[in-house]
Amino acid sequence: MSSSEQSVAFIGLGNMGAPMVANLCAKGFRVRAFDVSTQALQKAVDVGCTAAASAVEAVAAADVVVTMLPNGEIVESLLIDEQRLLEEMPSGALLVDCSTVAASTSLRVHQCADSLGVRCLDAPVSGGVGAAKAGTLAFMCGGTEEAFAAAQSVLGAMGANIFRAGDAGAGQTAKICNNMLLAVHMAGTAEALQMGVNNGLDPVVLSEIMRKSSGGNWSLEKYNPYPGVMPEVPASNDYAGGFLVRLMLKDLGLAANAGNISDSKTPMGDQAHALFQQLKESSEDAQDKDFSSILKIFQ
Ligand code: NAD
Repeated sequence: MSSSEQSVAFIGLGNMGAPMVANLCAKGFRVRAFDVSTQALQKAVDVGCTAAASAVEAVAAADVVVTMLPNGEIVESLLIDEQRLLEEMPSGALLVDCSTVAASTSLRVHQCADSLGVRCLDAPVSGGVGAAKAGTLAFMCGGTEEAFAAAQSVLGAMGANIFRAGDAGAGQTAKICNNMLLAVHMAGTAEALQMGVNNGLDPVVLSEIMRKSSGGNWSLEKYNPYPGVMPEVPASNDYAGGFLVRLMLKDLGLAANAGNISDSKTPMGDQAHALFQQLKESSEDAQDKDFSSILKIFQ
């Protein structure tokens, strides 16, 4: 089916959903959108979506339903317990839940979808708002090969790297492994940079040395936490926007749960979790700053 023939419902038009839906419209998909925020819904209409009066109305005739919601409670309430969207979706339609939630939540959604003849993929993303705007998100998918194949054209319109991590819930597990590692190397990068500065080094020079040496990592390469080293990242804009501390804490909480359930040893993840919690408690607005503000813990 070509993009113009496929009808998509998109629910959750926030920081991530808004640019994702703009890319779908730009690539020729017919999108019926819904958000509880009328402001968010209007922005989606401005980029070419049709506004639905409710989530139920949005999904009623959709081939593919994409959800991009804040957390697992909202996902379960919307899809299963309250609005019961899975029951409203046409049989054979495909649900692609891009929200970051616990793998156990995704498993419940998959089971419910299966029982209703709805195909399902958990497909959390990596890359943040910048990649959502550029259409270069990474999607980490969990579900059957068949559902993964069916989602390719929609995901390809919003992302550049589309992975199948495994069966139901595997996308969420891959996502929290990735974000636990991200928290660890961002905290470690901030710690090393601040120690260098405290010992008289220029953070620009030190960043370049470590970037090209064995300490090189994504935080140094793309998202330096020290103000002024990279002009375009949140650290150089008072840590505004980007990937908020509260979202990183949500992901570290999910990682801690996944660690407990599987009896995994995660001392580095636990330490990063404690540092981000300490950062959150350091001021009233700390949780609404970008996560690279973890540097402040070391100052
Ligand atoms: P957000 O809070 O900006 O957007 C969520 C949207 O969902 C809001 O517009 C809200 O009004 C809407 N919503 C909430 N309840 C709803 C309901 N019952 N029905 C319809 N709409 C509803 O969040 P975001 O930053 O876009 O993140 C969305 C998801 O993506 C989260 O799970 C987050 O963890 C994940 N994520 C975010 C980033 C990032 O950088 N922001 C990066 C990767 C993954």
